[in-house]
Amino acid sequence: MNEPFIRPMTIIETLEQHGHEAYFVGGAVRDVIIGREIGDVDIATSAKPEEVMALFSKTILVGIEHGTVVVVLDGEQYEVTTFRAEGEYEDFRRPASVQFITSLTADLERRDFTINAIAMNKDGELLDPFNGQQAIKDRIICTVGEAKERFTEDALRMMRALRFVSQLGFQLEDRTKEAIKEHKSLLQHVSVERITIEFEKMLSGPFVKKAITLMNETGVHDFLPGLYGSARSLAKVANSHLGELKEQNELWALLLLVLEEAECTAFLKKWKLSNRSIKEIEFAVAAFEAVSRDGWTAQILYTYGLERALNVVRLHRAFGIASIQFNAVKEWYDRLPIHSLKELAVKGTDLMSWSGKKGGPWLSETLQLIEQEVVAGRLQNEQSAIKEWLKCNQQ
Ligand code: ATP
Ligand code: MG
Repeated sequence: MNEPFIRPMTIIETLEQHGHEAYFVGGAVRDVIIGREIGDVDIATSAKPEEVMALFSKTILVGIEHGTVVVVLDGEQYEVTTFRAEGEYEDFRRPASVQFITSLTADLERRDFTINAIAMNKDGELLDPFNGQQAIKDRIICTVGEAKERFTEDALRMMRALRFVSQLGFQLEDRTKEAIKEHKSLLQHVSVERITIEFEKMLSGPFVKKAITLMNETGVHDFLPGLYGSARSLAKVANSHLGELKEQNELWALLLLVLEEAECTAFLKKWKLSNRSIKEIEFAVAAFEAVSRDGWTAQILYTYGLERALNVVRLHRAFGIASIQFNAVKEWYDRLPIHSLKELAVKGTDLMSWSGKKGGPWLSETLQLIEQEVVAGRLQNEQSAIKEWLKCNQQ
């Protein structure tokens, strides 16, 4: 048995000892078959949430209505979800209610794609009523059951299909692809937060080019925030080297730059990103634009800082633009005479006592001038040198 399954095995054993069924399910089973790195290990069981909670010393009730309990073992969290069938779907979103059931097969049947509907018991045997293993062999993403119905139940599954294409490089099965073309507009009814999670995963996948090409072919982007009619820009995104990017923020920055989006904040707010992410993304875009305008300067390094400068280098690489080396940026940054105003050898109080003038706008203006001169290396960061410079440059 693969290493990530060994510890949570005791969860399955405990549940079985108490007369319940329990299996590994979902992404971890899929990924172990593919030979891909395994993410979270999830468990499905016939035990009801309260029964699960009674059997383990440390649990967190995530959502009684969805039957999910987190079991904490040695500090690791495992989601244990009661077999369930989903009740009525409302407005093309996740169902409002679920029914707990006793059949594993029925639980697998409500899952999105056949590759995600395989269960594994504690002996490593696979239970695969929808031929998910064959789909993995054939590298096909195919809904469990009729695609049109499944996308009408929960439209997010269309975005998930594209993100799995990006992560796995698989093909969309024909009916699944046709159903996306037909039902993409239902994405309007899905909460933006859920779409954003899948979209970010899609942008980060190694086969993102393939996924974006499919997005354009099916027209899904027309129903994503701020991307209506942006097929050409998205093709440019697909053709850039996204693998050069390291952070989620850089992916968003690249998207904004390709879209030539003037209203960055409004665009990112549509995706419901956090204010903190929005700030960082905008700062990266501003740094990129500053370098495009002025070339690399000490002033830009100082203003935007090392992390932002590295964002810019990675964006250049993604666009195939010749740029400075990572090490060169780091060394240059380290060599800057100062890294913040705090490191300047003079303070506002010094300027006031030297000039005998009271505080006012002149003070911050003068400090800013000194800061610029010091950063550019035209003025030594020493009190005496600065005092001398002030004498010669006093208006
Ligand atoms: P990852 O490795 O990225 O976590 P995953 O397949 O585990 O991929 P999750 O979002 O963690 O994806 O979902 C876990 C499992 O729950 C899926 O494998 C699938 O069986 C099921 N699932 C998740 N979302 C849906 C959905 N919208 N509709 C139907 N089944 C879903
Ligand atoms: Mg998962």
